[in-house]
Amino acid sequence: MALKECDDLRLQRKQALTACCMAAAAESDPQLQPARRAAMLMDCLAVLRAAHPAADAAQWGMGEFRRALRGPLAPLLPAGSESGDGFGALCLFDEDGLVRDALQDLCREHLVPQAALEWHWPWARVRAEQEERRLYEILRRLEPQEYRRARALLAENPAGPVRVLRRAWDQLWMRFDFFEAVSDWPWCHLDGWWYPCPKCRWPMRVVRRGGEVEVRCEAHRAHGVHYRLGLEPATTGAAPLLVGTGKGAEAVVGLPASTEHLALSRPVWRYGVLPTLLELELRDELQRLDHVHVQMWPGELRPDEYDLRITVAPPGRRAMNLRVDAKAWESVEALACALLEREPQPYALTIVLPDHQDHERHYLQERLSGRRIRVTTVSRLIARVRQACGAAR
Ligand SMILES: [Zn+2]
Repeated sequence: MALKECDDLRLQRKQALTACCMAAAAESDPQLQPARRAAMLMDCLAVLRAAHPAADAAQWGMGEFRRALRGPLAPLLPAGSESGDGFGALCLFDEDGLVRDALQDLCREHLVPQAALEWHWPWARVRAEQEERRLYEILRRLEPQEYRRARALLAENPAGPVRVLRRAWDQLWMRFDFFEAVSDWPWCHLDGWWYPCPKCRWPMRVVRRGGEVEVRCEAHRAHGVHYRLGLEPATTGAAPLLVGTGKGAEAVVGLPASTEHLALSRPVWRYGVLPTLLELELRDELQRLDHVHVQMWPGELRPDEYDLRITVAPPGRRAMNLRVDAKAWESVEALACALLEREPQPYALTIVLPDHQDHERHYLQERLSGRRIRVTTVSRLIARVRQACGAAR
């Protein structure tokens, strides 16, 4: 297939994906007025039709569109655009009709900006990659020491009462304008309270499933960070109590969802906080090993060049040197595109994904062929280093 044709198909596939994600967002927003929801769905349908060849577009009426949204996406994606990206099998709603987590991230990562959709979703003007770049450009302007301080703060203080945040971020506070009021985020509110995830400290999502209320971290649900609302009524003036339902559900206390409580914007959490946590997890695991030296954000030219440098030098064995970058994108296909758009780096780089993306690492590796990039996961990298330094597995 000609390259141009292939690019067009890839673009149309993303356009259809954007329309489906936006439509799912509109369908699942309980606060939308029916007339507004209908207008949003009409615009999504128009974008979807435009992504299909004219002959196929006619088959999509509103009823067909809404029905198809409940199943795997394959029929909604333009014919001929099939690829190994996994989107054909992707479902935006679960069996209870609830929208999947990270829908907004998925959408932002594949976003094809469309005037019709931007009117409804102001954030749909900016692609994830641009947001990630904006964050790192601001970080890059900092002195190396401040840069390291800011990265650590991303992990330690991503949300909380404004006075606590201001004290922690101190001199960086005015230069880091990525905080938003938790009161503006209804998706994390439970009777006027919000709950920080015990792992990333960012607000957890509140989901109403039938008569039950579930509270969970979108990124750490797979680590067992999920709760249900306790049966006992809350004491007057106190947050409702949550009961842990997963192995990572440490006790959490609700905080008021007021304008006095702030959290880092969603893209900064996704592309700044989550990778930083992965890197710190790697560091903590690896620096306990003998003959392993880990440097955080060392940068030979700039501190943001790559995130970790791991040196393994066991006596009598071959030394190993790794430059590592952690990535926490929802879509590895979008991550591949973003990495391919960048200048190739002059050294071998290891990209680390969270463990739950293990099944996608081969696909990413293949998409990056020709680059000096090796794709792995947190657990695999730890196992590899343990082996290199002769530690028991
Ligand atoms: Zn979390």
